[in-house]
Amino acid sequence: MTVTLYNTAARAKQALQPIDPANVRMYVCGPTVYDFAHIGNARPVIVFDVLYRLLRHVYGADHVTYVRNITDVDDKINARAVRDFPDIDLNEAIRRVTEGTADQYQKDVAELGNLPPNVQPRATEHLPEMIVLIERIIAGGHAYEAEGHVLFHVPSMPDYGRLSGRSVDDMIAGARVDVAPFKRDPMDFVLWKPSDDGQPGWPSPWGFGRPGWHIECSAMAWKHLGAVFDIHGGGIDLAFPHHENELAQSRCAHGTPVMANIWMHNGFLQVEGEKMSKSLGNFFTIRELLDVWPGAVLRLNMLRTHYRQPIDWTVAALSETKAMLDGWFDQVQGVAPAATVPAGVLDAVSDDLNTPGAIAAMHELAKKKDFAGLRAAWDFLNLGVYARKDATFPIHPGNAEAAGQAAAAIGDAALGETLLARVAARNAKDFATSDALRDEVLKRQTPRLAIRIADRKDGDVFVTDVRVSVS
Ligand SMILES: [Zn+2]
Repeated sequence: MTVTLYNTAARAKQALQPIDPANVRMYVCGPTVYDFAHIGNARPVIVFDVLYRLLRHVYGADHVTYVRNITDVDDKINARAVRDFPDIDLNEAIRRVTEGTADQYQKDVAELGNLPPNVQPRATEHLPEMIVLIERIIAGGHAYEAEGHVLFHVPSMPDYGRLSGRSVDDMIAGARVDVAPFKRDPMDFVLWKPSDDGQPGWPSPWGFGRPGWHIECSAMAWKHLGAVFDIHGGGIDLAFPHHENELAQSRCAHGTPVMANIWMHNGFLQVEGEKMSKSLGNFFTIRELLDVWPGAVLRLNMLRTHYRQPIDWTVAALSETKAMLDGWFDQVQGVAPAATVPAGVLDAVSDDLNTPGAIAAMHELAKKKDFAGLRAAWDFLNLGVYARKDATFPIHPGNAEAAGQAAAAIGDAALGETLLARVAARNAKDFATSDALRDEVLKRQTPRLAIRIADRKDGDVFVTDVRVSVS
């Protein structure tokens, strides 16, 4: 089957022709880890997760490599580290900010039903690759050193700007705002910059310093996917200058005509008709939304709009999405999935990720009462994991399986042990312990996750019924 994708670089939909069908390679720009991810950050994660699932379906799960980086060196991170941990060593403060934020990010995107990528490289682990790339770019005459900086010389690359389709005049007008005196051209951008004592840095041929943001992605993509790969993705806001600069760096370092064969960009997200901003009070983190809505509702709501269109994120749409998901849930609950994903769904997703088309096909399946097909589509888009509304797990003493299922439904695998210990304490008439362990489990409740724990006698033993309701 053919997968067709809109290639920003060609301004057209093109059939995907993998360089190596045994290893289809995709790079997506990931988060800069200094704060909670917001719902706009979730859009590329969900969009490219659907593409990842499609590629795994078409080429085989072992024949796709998906790389999504973590940017853990950035001036915004330094500022946050100084603000949040003023009294400790800067490097330790940076480590705390980046690790805490990265952990939170992984939890948030997992709750939205996304598979982890095959590789999640961190920028700080790729300094040697960055230095090699910069040396090659300088050697090729595309970059120069000035006052401890290394700058990419944009006029050295005649077709710079072709990816994003910007005119040189537009780009110069944007670049002129704040031009450092050592730049040969206003559009030249930083590959390396000096660090002073109060800033993170690494030794380099150009002195103690740190990389520019763009070179990080060029280095990580090269290390994990090679000089040329199949798909490069990210939000449309990254097309210029970030992707334009990644492309320029990688092509000049490797002497290749392209960096990726297909460039994909998802559209903007706005909230209730306005640009999301903290000052307007319409800024939502993924975490805040997950406290109110199941992850599957957020996921399906994102997929109701085609990825290249702007999306208007509204409470009204979320309510409609939840009603849709609840209806399907009742129809697919306990139904075995059809052996294949229904053609209408797969064809739509294969046509430049037409998820609204796939959702329309799911409505058709529901209308025809093809619930096995609906279930297969539901599984393919991974809508079910967090949509379980209500389930009761009877935990007999020593029954680790039921305890594990209850823990999974609550979302904390470690609770399985706690639940087993509790039912054992209850049977031993150690009420103090059983009450304390019950309270520990109930602490996991959130506005959307209710837990009820009740004991009943089954023959000679007490059995705990753990009821988990997700709304
Ligand atoms: Zn990037």
